[in-house]
Amino acid sequence: MELPKFKYINDNIRDKFFEHNINDLACECCGIVSPLVYTGMFYAEENVEILCPECVSNGKAAEKFCGEFYDYWSDIPKTMPKESLHELQHKTPSYRGQQQEYVPHCCNDFCKFIDYVGWRDIQKRGLENNLVFCCYNNKIIENDKKYNFIEANKEKLRKKGDFRGYLFQCLHCNSYHLHADMA
Ligand SMILES: [Zn+2]
Ligand SMILES: [Zn+2]
Repeated sequence: MELPKFKYINDNIRDKFFEHNINDLACECCGIVSPLVYTGMFYAEENVEILCPECVSNGKAAEKFCGEFYDYWSDIPKTMPKESLHELQHKTPSYRGQQQEYVPHCCNDFCKFIDYVGWRDIQKRGLENNLVFCCYNNKIIENDKKYNFIEANKEKLRKKGDFRGYLFQCLHCNSYHLHADMA
């Protein structure tokens, strides 16, 4: 099945956002039984569990259920265009974080999700000296010294572990941004 494209998701990992529909469940928005379905985070009053990729990407699921795939967080700049926020919250499936999913921003736009990463994956990509460590919820002040928790613990990052990394890239200046969270 050809998945739709998403502005804020790297094309070659789109399949990680969907699951095989082994029980032939119908999309709760359009009723179609799609071979791949979205079962991830969706903030809505109704409990919606199965959505087809099309209803995610064209915004119909968000519209029908007044839902959002990403909750709001406080460091979204006021200058962020409304269309970008709409695209992210209403037309972009959420990656699977361990805490509330956060998407970094750069050049007044959201960054696109590249992959789930551990520190070894960052090294394999040759990015260890070429990263922005996300500050959101990761600025720590200890003994009057400020440091970034992710940067200070970067070598402990694992793709599948208690401390997981999420790699993003700016759509405009191409810089890489690393977010991480703890179970
Ligand atoms: Zn659908
Ligand atoms: Zn940028």
